[in-house]
Amino acid sequence: MALLSIVLPAYNEEQNIANTAGVLSGLLKEKGIDYELVFISDGSRDGTYREICRAAEADPRVKGAEFSRNFGKEAGIFAGLELTTGDAVIVMDCDLQHPPEVIPQMWKLWQEGAEVVEGIKISRGKESLLHKMSAGLFYKIMSRLIRMDMNSSSDYKLLDRKVVNVLLALPERNTFFRALTFWAGFRTETVQYEVQERQYGESKWSFWSLMKYAIANATSFSTLPLQLVTVMGMISILFSLVLAVQTLVKFLMGTAVEGFTTVILLVLIIGGFLMLSLGVIGHYIARIYEEVKGRPKYIISKVTDNVQGAVTGEWKRN
Ligand code: UDP
Ligand code: MG
Repeated sequence: MALLSIVLPAYNEEQNIANTAGVLSGLLKEKGIDYELVFISDGSRDGTYREICRAAEADPRVKGAEFSRNFGKEAGIFAGLELTTGDAVIVMDCDLQHPPEVIPQMWKLWQEGAEVVEGIKISRGKESLLHKMSAGLFYKIMSRLIRMDMNSSSDYKLLDRKVVNVLLALPERNTFFRALTFWAGFRTETVQYEVQERQYGESKWSFWSLMKYAIANATSFSTLPLQLVTVMGMISILFSLVLAVQTLVKFLMGTAVEGFTTVILLVLIIGGFLMLSLGVIGHYIARIYEEVKGRPKYIISKVTDNVQGAVTGEWKRN
């Protein structure tokens, strides 16, 4: 019988673990789907890992790991994928904002031959205005850069084992899970879902963490910002050509001096462009630097007893 693995990254979610495990187990048993739940505690500072261990003791189909520190949701997803053994894997948030009721639909599409099932949001639940605005801005930037509709796509997806293996084999450190499944291709179907309200705790994303996420993902997925540098360079060259002609004409007509405003403007504009461009290039160099160092995406400090085999980035088994 085919096995479904569910990956649930969790950061400071102690109140959600037991409840989520219960809800998912209930649903999957009722639908007669063979499953395992993989919780990854992303360096949580509360009792998240304790809760995962407790759930694992109560039900051998639950397993999990703890990171040595907070590595971010991306790392959590990839560590989770690595621990799975299922023929199909679903990635979802452990705060139940991704409604479990969609799972049977995803499972059915997979059985009918889909290799990727994308969860498409039809509304973004209730969120604070600032969060909505920063998330909105984030998705606008990302959609432009990656050329895919980020506003409705999400990390809620089902992947066939083949696709999971492709993603796990990628050598890159700066991953962007959501876009990578588009990049990987495969036979893709979609299911729609409504984002639910968070039951316990609050969103783990602040404005700055979203901006950092946007820049990291944009630079790891698109070289457009680098090309923009060239475009800006061309614009300022055109601009300076016009000014050069004007200056020369004035010089020849003997009405030179008076050009201080122009000089100041030019220095400011060109200086601005240069610094901006250096910043953009800096971001890419930072990415390259990180990739070259080849450090693991995450460090696992603990795993539950039922995890078998070695795990990348594992520090020691307790
Ligand atoms: N998460 C994580 N590491 C982080 C931040 C978040 O593993 O550094 C997890 C979090 O526990 C949750 C999921 O990612 O399961 C989505 O986070 P959250 O609910 O805070 O984001 P939102 O739903 O507001 O987009
Ligand atoms: Mg959430």
